[in-house]
Amino acid sequence: APTTPTDFIRDIVAADIEAGRTPQIVTRFPPEPNGYLHLGHAKSICLNFGIALENNGRCNLRFDDTNPTKEEVEYVDSITTDVRWLIGDWADQVLGEKPKGAKPTPRDIDGKPDFLAEPAAADSAPTDIEPFFASDYFEQLYTYAEQLILKGKAFVCDLTPEETDAYRGPPTEPGRESPYRNRSIEENLDLFRRMRAGEFPDSARTLRAKIDMASPNVWLRDPLLYRIRHVEHHHAGAGWCVYPLYDFAHCLSDYLEGITHSICTLEFVVHRPLYDWILEALELPRHVPHQYEFAKLNLAYTLFSKRRLMRLVQEKHVAGWDDPRMPTLAGLRRRGVPAAAVRNFAYRIGITKFESVTEAAVFEGAIRDELNTNAERRLAVLNPLKVVLTNIAPGESYACEAGNHPQNDALGSRTLQLTREVYIEADDFAEVPPPKFRRLKPGGSIRLKYGCIIDYADVVKDADGNVVEVHCTADLSTRRGEPNADRKVKGTVHWVSADDAIDATVRLYDRLFTVAEPGAEEDFTTVLNPESLVTVEAKLEPALAAAQAGECFQFERMGYFAVDPKDSAEGKPVFNRTITLRDTWSK
Ligand code: ATP
Ligand code: MG
Ligand code: MG
Repeated sequence: APTTPTDFIRDIVAADIEAGRTPQIVTRFPPEPNGYLHLGHAKSICLNFGIALENNGRCNLRFDDTNPTKEEVEYVDSITTDVRWLIGDWADQVLGEKPKGAKPTPRDIDGKPDFLAEPAAADSAPTDIEPFFASDYFEQLYTYAEQLILKGKAFVCDLTPEETDAYRGPPTEPGRESPYRNRSIEENLDLFRRMRAGEFPDSARTLRAKIDMASPNVWLRDPLLYRIRHVEHHHAGAGWCVYPLYDFAHCLSDYLEGITHSICTLEFVVHRPLYDWILEALELPRHVPHQYEFAKLNLAYTLFSKRRLMRLVQEKHVAGWDDPRMPTLAGLRRRGVPAAAVRNFAYRIGITKFESVTEAAVFEGAIRDELNTNAERRLAVLNPLKVVLTNIAPGESYACEAGNHPQNDALGSRTLQLTREVYIEADDFAEVPPPKFRRLKPGGSIRLKYGCIIDYADVVKDADGNVVEVHCTADLSTRRGEPNADRKVKGTVHWVSADDAIDATVRLYDRLFTVAEPGAEEDFTTVLNPESLVTVEAKLEPALAAAQAGECFQFERMGYFAVDPKDSAEGKPVFNRTITLRDTWSK
């Protein structure tokens, strides 16, 4: 297990616990269901769930689903699946307490949803995700909005969206007050109720907080709290035509769920005064949450914004949100990246207040470390060249034991059959070898890993002069346990028996972009890597026929490869290269 990280947010949490400011730490991860989660979100998930895990707290997966026009159920489902996958076995310790299907009934100003009675006992946490939805609080949020009106702190405004922007003005000079700002409480309440009742068309009126049009922080210039949208909501259904804006819904959803530390990324620093203002203006009876901000993840050679990832999907530069080249959690999972590698990566990069770009090698290193420890070894020949071992008769075979992991005997072994015809990698033979070539060449010898040494005899060529077969003799006395087992040769190569190898499609994935900062290009589609996917027909050792969707192996000398869960068929797996054995880009 990785060591628990330390950072400024964890320091704040520790100080709050030390001072007894809260009985239990409660965090949340609040995605908007308008796209798939990506590795950047994983940083936030690992921070929020990690803090809950380390402090015997809770973390809620909450959909920030207050904008019905951009959101879809497909995304709710994919996000739930992805979070469940990523948090893995943290789940039974940290998931927010919520009975299946529970919906809160609106309550008084306290507003604590009835399913959140008291902090849950450590052993009663649910083991599967039951997401929270901001839209479940619409009724409660509406009640809060009326409370603000009654306190004279919100008003109904009839300015058009364009006028509202113009009145707000640039940050450098004070804005102008709306002519509707001084409506009476009665008129505001009446108009807001009629907004809700559907009397007015989209955008005709808004509810705004009455704060300060001269504030240097434009977010405090009478920000919009509600707008009119005559559309059905994917989770709340029909029945609403006024929808709360992010700033209003977020702080109050945090409050309702008893969130103690509301952690978000740096672009929300300027929203924090509004977050605090709303909670304060309502004079809420319970402990109010506080917002803390950290720097987003930016990763070299990678794009994260959902809008841009959406474009890659829509223009078919990739095969979908879960294309193994995508930085989405669905894509990474399909590619074979273990959830633990993503979590370790998130812990390694740490949490700071300053934006920076993380080297691709940091993520790739986390993947390699995890797979090197856990992936079983197999033999696979990606670009086969036939080798005939002329002293082995057709039908004859020699069993060779192959360990599944060089550092972990507990992972067991399997038996390979050495037969007359085997395949080696075409690159492992050179008729005219370059200097220091340590593989098979005329007059030379190599060891077939787990098998024996073979000595070159001859080549067979086709009419065009291409080598189609290499003939060798097998020195069977060099097998393990045989008298010449310690005979030395310079090179050892992987191989498969032509008698029992299975055919498989193997997809060699590489970085999607050729430049470190694709987002800085005028059009990032001009820097797509044309070699981000190369497909080969490979020969695999027979044990791989039984490989299960998602399982990841090290193909010795070739890299890490995972069974594609979508395109594989019974006994005919399709493999995705998760990652190469070494960083080939920084050479
Ligand atoms: P994007 O800009 O990629 O569309 P978003 O911020 O709009 O992402 P949300 O669904 O609102 O997406 O994000 C949910 C949470 O994940 C937020 O708290 C957000 O701050 C955090 N988050 C999003 N992108 C990153 C990132 N690159 N690094 C760390 N956290 C992120
Ligand atoms: Mg967002
Ligand atoms: Mg976004």
